[in-house]
Amino acid sequence: ARVNGAQVASAVSRAEAVRRARVALTITGVHKAFAEHEVLRGIDMEIRKGEVVALLGPSGSGKSTLLRLINHLETLDAGTISFDGIEVGYRDGGTALPEREVARQRVQAGVGMVFQHFNLFGHLTARENVAVPLRWVHRVPKDEALAEADRLLGRVGLSARAHALPRQLSGGQQQRVGIARALAGRPQVLLLDEPTSALDPELVQEVLEVVRSLALDEGLTMLIATHQLGFAREVADRVVFMAEGRVLEQGSPQQVLDNPQHPTAVRFLRAVH
Ligand code: ADP
Ligand code: MG
Repeated sequence: ARVNGAQVASAVSRAEAVRRARVALTITGVHKAFAEHEVLRGIDMEIRKGEVVALLGPSGSGKSTLLRLINHLETLDAGTISFDGIEVGYRDGGTALPEREVARQRVQAGVGMVFQHFNLFGHLTARENVAVPLRWVHRVPKDEALAEADRLLGRVGLSARAHALPRQLSGGQQQRVGIARALAGRPQVLLLDEPTSALDPELVQEVLEVVRSLALDEGLTMLIATHQLGFAREVADRVVFMAEGRVLEQGSPQQVLDNPQHPTAVRFLRAVH
């Protein structure tokens, strides 16, 4: 792609801004096993405010588990995860915290998550789906929550479909509802787990367009597991390559995608291209 001077200047100033931003999310020494299977074997990662990080890696490398840990959908075996310098406890003297405490911490930390398979409530309309976290988690009154839901649906280009049920929407539209719902809590960090991998190819672009706009126009802090290399190159400030529960390589999209060093990364990138 041809790049003009203004684009180069804005990329440089964006990189500079990200470098100067404070750390939004810190992951240190994170381990996670399911029975005997060690899925995460010591993950360390820092994400700065406004930074967009693409998480790449073969299936089974632990990407979803890492995102679920950050969002308290799993418990840690070892390590720490902190938001804005505040460690969010997963254990209380070795035992898992009660679900209510976990939910409170999730809200306090300000994490939103977009799932691979949308995870919408089938019996609720688009606007009701988006309003759910506002009402249940943030205790916003119903009318106010629905008004905010309508605003968020507008942001993902779905104002006209606010009263549709999930089954009346295309996969791309359902995922845009999923994104609007993840934004409802005004998250500090937005996690996206392969947001386009369940979509028919012709529906991928409309979802990537929304994510791109959140990243580049609105400056959201994001960690995105994805196999869309072109998208990662265009939108990510940094690419992290994981395999078998470890970070093997990370750097700018150019460094990692064009000049990978680790043989596993070289093989993976060749296969995905
Ligand atoms: P990725 O998202 O990179 O494909 P995952 O985090 O989904 O990787 O999975 C990593 C490994 O952890 C896989 O081998 C998977 O089978 C295993 N795994 C994930 N969740 C569970 C679970 N709840 N119970 C047992 N094994 C799991
Ligand atoms: Mg996954």
